[in-house]
Amino acid sequence: MPKMRVAQIPHAKGPFELVERDIPEPGPGKVRVKIAACGVCHSDSMTVQGLYPGVTYPRVPGHEVIGTIDAVGVGTRGWSPGTPVGVGWHGGNCGYCGPCRHGDAFACATSNLVTGVTHDGGYAEYMIAPAESVARVPAGLTPAEAAPLMCAGITTFNALRNSGARPGDVVAVLGIGGLGHLGVQYARKLGFRTVAVARGADKAALVQELGAHHYIDSQAEDPAAALQKLGGAKAILATVTSDEAMSQIQGGLGVNGTLMVIGAVPSLSADSLFLLRGRRSIKGWYSGVASDSEDTLLFSQLNDVKSMNEIYPLSRVAEAYDRMMSGQARFRVVLTMDG
Ligand SMILES: [Zn+2]
Ligand SMILES: [Zn+2]
Repeated sequence: MPKMRVAQIPHAKGPFELVERDIPEPGPGKVRVKIAACGVCHSDSMTVQGLYPGVTYPRVPGHEVIGTIDAVGVGTRGWSPGTPVGVGWHGGNCGYCGPCRHGDAFACATSNLVTGVTHDGGYAEYMIAPAESVARVPAGLTPAEAAPLMCAGITTFNALRNSGARPGDVVAVLGIGGLGHLGVQYARKLGFRTVAVARGADKAALVQELGAHHYIDSQAEDPAAALQKLGGAKAILATVTSDEAMSQIQGGLGVNGTLMVIGAVPSLSADSLFLLRGRRSIKGWYSGVASDSEDTLLFSQLNDVKSMNEIYPLSRVAEAYDRMMSGQARFRVVLTMDG
């Protein structure tokens, strides 16, 4: 039986183990992906720490997967070996529940599949994926370049394009890290008047390089007042994990403006009078499904949006994960399978 290397978590809070396993066969409706690269995302900590309800172990994390289909299960239609594909957080859907039938497959009520959480993900040389969870990868993107776009990319791009903002509108990106450094590039390329908001004067040069028209240093000035000076934001993409920062910036929303929440915070406060007077809103955003990933990859390739990555071979998975968790990586960490 041919073997593969995987990096698995043996039990919740357990250390990474590099082990050999038999290369699995794809069942009906599934494809097997030969993996070239996989991004390391903060949400992988849900698998590592056992924070996601119902995770079973051992489990292989990883939901920023890029590779090539190398086998197709019996009866799996529409996919063939040799196709370059990616797999993101959305790990599949049933196709027959209420949300699926209404075009909201991201909220599938029956299967709740999450790549690298409910089934093994991309910290491995091969994985099995439900066919509906794979996205085509356009030519011209290398695997390590494309990998972070499968979560950090789709989350920011898809939130921005569904924020209600139109070209020319003021759009702010709060937080310049793994998500935000992509968010600024997408906002600029989508035609928005792009405002980056972060802490410290040292970020000014970087955000300008990424395409921001304006930089607001939230340590030096009140970001809400600064946004109002620009006319108020039609959308604010909140990538941070600080409820204080999210509450502080809400006052920068313009009339009909929307705070798009993609960073998780335990609780969030809002000024209801401010919201209702200006018909403003606060909206959560889920990354998206495979077709959204395809759109993200193609938009990124056509418009030269690039994730800045630190690259590690799979054999150094623990170090790569710690680096991501440290918050010091600039800006995304990616595992490659060829080392
Ligand atoms: Zn992620
Ligand atoms: Zn469903």
